[in-house]
Amino acid sequence: MLVVMQTHATNAEIEHVVQAIREMNLTPHPLPGATRTAIGITGNIGAIDSRSLEVLPGVSELIRVTKPYKLASREMHEADTFIKVAQTVIGPGTCTIIAGPCSVENEAMILRTAEFMMENGVRLMRAGAYKPRTSPYSFQGMGLEGLKILDKARQKTGIGIVTELMDTENADAVEEACDIIQIGTRNMQNFSLLKRVGKAKKPVLLKRGMSATLEEWLMAAEYVMAGGNYNVILCERGIRSFSDHSRNTLDLSVIPPAKKLSHLPILVDPSHGTGKRDFVPPMALASLAAGADGLMVEVHPDPDHAASDGAQSLDFAAFKKLLAALKRLAEPLGKTVN
Ligand code: PEP
Ligand code: MN
Repeated sequence: MLVVMQTHATNAEIEHVVQAIREMNLTPHPLPGATRTAIGITGNIGAIDSRSLEVLPGVSELIRVTKPYKLASREMHEADTFIKVAQTVIGPGTCTIIAGPCSVENEAMILRTAEFMMENGVRLMRAGAYKPRTSPYSFQGMGLEGLKILDKARQKTGIGIVTELMDTENADAVEEACDIIQIGTRNMQNFSLLKRVGKAKKPVLLKRGMSATLEEWLMAAEYVMAGGNYNVILCERGIRSFSDHSRNTLDLSVIPPAKKLSHLPILVDPSHGTGKRDFVPPMALASLAAGADGLMVEVHPDPDHAASDGAQSLDFAAFKKLLAALKRLAEPLGKTVN
């Protein structure tokens, strides 16, 4: 349910409606808009008599939200959401690049990558300190030590950090060390983790589960938003299909419906989506053309010796070439690469 306030509703009237919703044991979510405020309601609204809200001073109308995801839906929040971090803004009209190695391997390679990115106008660097690996014998990431290295790179270069949180146990440390918390494909339906990042102060980059429908993905975003963290960025990273020519099937066809149903920005990760570095540039360009608000790309100073995902990582020269191509494509699309 969405309570739309009148254009001239006073703060006191808005607060009165918020209180009335709380008294019904429901959760109010005030959503200030350009011309008027709306108040989203979540919780079990089935038994509520909407007329008791309709008659309150300053209320214009009540709208039923039909989708199971509420806060993530355009029905409740018509305008596009822009996610602001210290280094940049993510949302329509821009193509935000998040680039860097799959994992933090040592201080030197992280500092080198951060400096290279900043020199090339990339303001957000990705790198995992905690790695979800299929095999327990593969490199598992540097953990806390890796977070310290990321923090050092941020302090030294000013670059924003995007890094994965795998479990609630490390939530405080990851939140502290990063600018955007990444939730990986394998954890898209880890509901206790989603609830925890719903309480975080940092935006969440929510990767699509490798077998998740769009509705399941948006319901996962809803978990985060229901906790009070409205700063969610969706990230398509490929799904499982019968195709075996690439690591995953990058589902660019999800972008238009995701944009239609939700106001949240959507990025694409063509690295995990293809699994092979040669296929990354064409799919990165295609993502932009399909309406993505940005990209997450794996870039490594020496991909052939990477501790993880080297085969799908671009080296600096290939990344620079891609960046130039993205800038050329962004112009006719009316977007700026940032
Ligand atoms: C990653 O970004 O390195 C990663 C593990 O991604 P995903 O969760 O999409 O597999
Ligand atoms: Mn990776």
